[in-house]
Amino acid sequence: MSEQVYIDGAWRKPASGETIPVVCPSDGKVFAHIARGGAKDIDAAVQAARRAFEGPWGKTTALERGRLMMKVGEKITQHAEELAQIEARDTGKPLKQARADMVAAARYFEFYGAAADKVHGDVVPFLAGYTVLVKHEPRGVTGHIIPWNYPAQMFGRTLAPTLACGNTAVLKPAEEACLAALRITELAHEVGFPAGVINVVPGYGEEAGAALANHPGIDFIAFTGSPGVGVLIQKASAEHLRPCVLELGGKSPQIVFEDANLEAVLPVVTNAIVQNAGQTCSAGSRVLVQRSIYDRFIGMLVERFAKLRVGSHDMDLECGPLISAGQRDRVQGFVRAAKAEGIPILAEAKLAPGLPAGGYYAPPMLFGPVPSTNQLAREEVFGPVLSAIPFDDEADAIRIANGTPYGLAAGIWSIDGSRALRVANAMRCGQVFVNGYGAGGGIELPFGGIKKSGHGREKGLEALREFSVIKTIVINHG
Ligand code: NAP
Ligand code: MG
Repeated sequence: MSEQVYIDGAWRKPASGETIPVVCPSDGKVFAHIARGGAKDIDAAVQAARRAFEGPWGKTTALERGRLMMKVGEKITQHAEELAQIEARDTGKPLKQARADMVAAARYFEFYGAAADKVHGDVVPFLAGYTVLVKHEPRGVTGHIIPWNYPAQMFGRTLAPTLACGNTAVLKPAEEACLAALRITELAHEVGFPAGVINVVPGYGEEAGAALANHPGIDFIAFTGSPGVGVLIQKASAEHLRPCVLELGGKSPQIVFEDANLEAVLPVVTNAIVQNAGQTCSAGSRVLVQRSIYDRFIGMLVERFAKLRVGSHDMDLECGPLISAGQRDRVQGFVRAAKAEGIPILAEAKLAPGLPAGGYYAPPMLFGPVPSTNQLAREEVFGPVLSAIPFDDEADAIRIANGTPYGLAAGIWSIDGSRALRVANAMRCGQVFVNGYGAGGGIELPFGGIKKSGHGREKGLEALREFSVIKTIVINHG
């Protein structure tokens, strides 16, 4: 199946007749192929989705939709180990991370499956003799373009809420990693999703992705990836006067005040940049430390970084390889520039002995102090590189934290509850954690950015609003 596209409830060869090799980042070797879908396949998928929307799917009750989705969640759970093995090999991530991802992927289908029949509207008080209904209706056919960093989770995150709302969908996964998403597509087929409700067309971004973004037959598009492609998606949406949701990454700060419980901060701040080798949109890639504890806390971080081990996905250590040679070059470019500018390297983790040759390994690194105006403190590296930045007081911390083009997430560490809340309120971003970070997938928590991190919200019940549209019905009954 993995070399085919899934359209109208069936697997078929892509129109190109071609495939794309799939490389394991742990050793750089080709181990599978996926279909090279393109404009013709996207067009067939959009048409199938439209037929399904106007046909049987449009007539299913929310309860039926929810039940089908719950079954997908169950299937993912039953196949969790198989899926985790696929995901780890495809992305290079340590197996324990891939296993956690499958729990989250299943949760998306469970959460939105259970929510499908709870999307209530309103009755609005109006003139005498009138009743006004406000309904949440499906948008129609939704397009989805997802990245390679969490293929299974992203599949659930973007598809589950749209299906719950009653839409039909066409999804273009990332060429660099999508095998687990394709396997979950098979599982969704097995539980009996009607033909055309879910369509999955792998392929290159410039081909299948661009064809989807520019297709006149979709009603909405949800995109997660780089700001550059986000601009293309928004332009295409503008051409067709349709809305989009964009999730474009960040430069999220962890703000550590002098009264924080440093023992509790240490593992969480470390994990926030090492998880998935830093290739997480909400990676905590800046650590802002109050000057009075800067040396002490940085000393603790240095010790911790020195103990981190980098290995292949099946060695299952703290950190795996990056997704591709291109991504490794990009990360090394940031590292070279920082070195050239004389920014001190405080710690560099070790690569485990006996790593397979040809893998895309990059050790977690800690730089500091990084001037808050430097690109290492402002741009998304998307690798395991942490920038330490000292600050003087609350106002200084807020200024530095908000001083990047991004605004996705932030972590605040302090036992002073009033201060934590003041700073949380001052953060220009979409999600703030106090004395914690990440929170295990956070399916229930509305998530998304401001500024260059994008717009719109996914996750939580908020996603149900993105994937539906309001209709007001005004009845004059006298
Ligand atoms: P990307 O190019 O934006 O890829 C994201 C998705 O968009 C993939 O499915 C990609 O397809 C597709 N795409 C690419 N060009 C397209 C186009 N012209 N029209 C429509 N879709 C298109 O991101 P990347 O190149 O993989 O990574 C580059 C940087 O983006 C990273 O270093 C990181 O900074 C950022 N990023 C952020 C996130 C996040 O979670 N926010 C995720 C990934 C990357 P193909 O990849 O199959 O070509
Ligand atoms: Mg790409």
